[in-house]
Amino acid sequence: MTLPDNENDNNVASHKMYMGWAIKLAKYALDHGETPVACIFVHYKSKQIVAYGMNDTNNSLTGIAHAEFMAIEQIKSRFPNDPIGFNQFCSDCIVYVTVEPCIMCASALKQLNFKKIYFGCGNDRFGGNGTVLSINQDKSTVNYNGVVYKQKSIPGLYRREAIMLLRYFYVKENKRSPNPRIKLDRNLDKDNFPQINWSHYMNNNLFGQEFGLHNLSHFQTMDDIEEFSTIDWNLIDSTYDNILNDLQLETKHFKLNEYKRLKV
Ligand SMILES: [Zn+2]
Repeated sequence: MTLPDNENDNNVASHKMYMGWAIKLAKYALDHGETPVACIFVHYKSKQIVAYGMNDTNNSLTGIAHAEFMAIEQIKSRFPNDPIGFNQFCSDCIVYVTVEPCIMCASALKQLNFKKIYFGCGNDRFGGNGTVLSINQDKSTVNYNGVVYKQKSIPGLYRREAIMLLRYFYVKENKRSPNPRIKLDRNLDKDNFPQINWSHYMNNNLFGQEFGLHNLSHFQTMDDIEEFSTIDWNLIDSTYDNILNDLQLETKHFKLNEYKRLKV
C-alpha cells in the first residue's frame, strides 16, 4: 500500500497511514504479552514500508530486544556482506515509532543516519530524542562516516493512542502482579492526557513545516495538533491477528534490486 506520489512527505494522511501500521503492531504486541511499542521503517523516495519491529523483550527474555533493533536487523538482512550499502540505505529511511526511542535505540538510529524520526508519545524515563537526553541533536553520537550532525525527530503522531496502549499494559501488568504497586493500582484513565512540551523536541519553525501553520498555536498551548486531538478508539481497541503477515507482504513489495537499478 503506497500513497500517490507526492513531493511533500510531510502530509498528515501519510503520517496516519504509516504510524497507523505501527500502532496496530503495538496493539498486537500488547495482545501477546509484550510492551506495546512498535515501529515501521519507510524508504522515503519510494514511500514503501521496508521494515517493521515490535518490542520482544518478554518473549525473547532479552532486555534489549526493542522494536527498533528488530527493524534494523531486517534491513541488515537485505545487505549481506555489504555494510556500505546497508548504511546508505538507512539514511534513505524514515522511522515511525509509537514511543520515543530510548537512549540506546536513539543512539543506534543516529549512528545509522536515519533520515528522520517520527514518534507518538514521549518516553519519560528513557527517552533519547528530547525527553531525557537529546541524542538526535547533540554531539555525543556521530554517523557512520564520523560526522556530527543533527537528526530531525518529530513527536505527536497518534500520541494519545500510544499513551493509551501503555496504560492498558500497565493496568494489565498490575493486575497480574502478586503485590500490586499502589502507584499503579488505579482505574484506567481514558480522559486525561499530559501536555506535550513541543519545544523539548523541535523549534516552532520545524513544527510549522511539519504540521502546517494552521496548527502552530498548539506549539504554545502544548496540546496535540488538530488531526490527532481526538483519540481513534477503533484503532487501539481492535485486534490485528494478521498484522505480521500483512507487514511481511508490504515489505516484500520493496525490491532492492529495482531500487538499485533505478537509482531512485
Ligand atoms: Zn529502545
